[in-house]
Amino acid sequence: MKADMFTQEELRNLPRKGTPQPADHTQHAFYGRDILSVDQFNREDLTYIFRVAEEMRAMVKRFGSVDLLQGKVLANLFYEPSTRTSASFMAAMQRLGGQVIPINNVQYSSVAKGESLPDTVRTLEQYADVIVLRHPEVGAAAVAARYARKPIINAGDGIGEHPTQALLDLFTIYDELGTIDGLKIAMVGDLKYGRTVHSLTKLLLLYRVEFYFVSPPILRMPETILQRVRATDQPYTETDNIHDIIREVDVLYVTRVQKERFEDLSEYEAVKDYYVVDTELMRQAKERMIVMHPFPRVGEISYAVDSDPRAAYFRQIENGMYIRMALLAAVLGKA
Ligand code: ASP
Repeated sequence: MKADMFTQEELRNLPRKGTPQPADHTQHAFYGRDILSVDQFNREDLTYIFRVAEEMRAMVKRFGSVDLLQGKVLANLFYEPSTRTSASFMAAMQRLGGQVIPINNVQYSSVAKGESLPDTVRTLEQYADVIVLRHPEVGAAAVAARYARKPIINAGDGIGEHPTQALLDLFTIYDELGTIDGLKIAMVGDLKYGRTVHSLTKLLLLYRVEFYFVSPPILRMPETILQRVRATDQPYTETDNIHDIIREVDVLYVTRVQKERFEDLSEYEAVKDYYVVDTELMRQAKERMIVMHPFPRVGEISYAVDSDPRAAYFRQIENGMYIRMALLAAVLGKA
């Protein structure tokens, strides 16, 4: 699907889609736009999205839900398993008063009859105002966006990108530590196949941070991403030893080894338990730092760490809903 992918330049100038709205609804940069890659965002956009997410949080705490997106419909189309991304988009839409068409079991949809992605999205857009898509192939969201007349939000395209996760990750770092510039950020685990670390690294390049990429040798950060880091002159260190870096870091972003991406399962078995963040390791970490994880965790962080105030992963999950509320409102012209 690579041929259909957008250049960075195109991503920054995606056309607006959907029905034109009154001018006051269309001021924001994301109105009617696809959300395909973190390459679309600049720092100003992020500040705006974070401010709206904070408003969404205050609104949920106060009222539970509102009718901002009443009359709007979201099609939630998932070709790969998901708990958080799928449920948080649904919750986000419902808390804003909108409706959801959930398609989480494509094996029971016309996809199982051989329907193509372009036809599926062109069908769903007859019913919905925005489509959230998760797909196993890199570039699938870009393909869908080329065909759809309604905005497509990329909810993960294979080992490619997961832009909404990166937004909620960055929002969590900012929310927890009050800044992003100047932080030392370690990404740990499967940096080769983990799409969340690909998107988050690219997004962090808009700031001044120091990276530590911690992985088994066969799961190193792809060269394409490292090139991007080098191009911005941000310092980075690659290591396979978490003990080398644990005392330094402000953010420890842990990921699972992506079993479903391995062709040879014996390779997966060899690296699956490479890192375990436990209370012993946390004793060596700074007092003011956070541990994050996009989840699901499958053994990389022991349950005993959950009661440590530095464990931010459940707060990170909650933030996901506020970020997705902000994005839906922005794309639909109601932020
Ligand atoms: N939930 C995240 C994703 O969809 C992380 C993971 O699956 O490990 O990429």
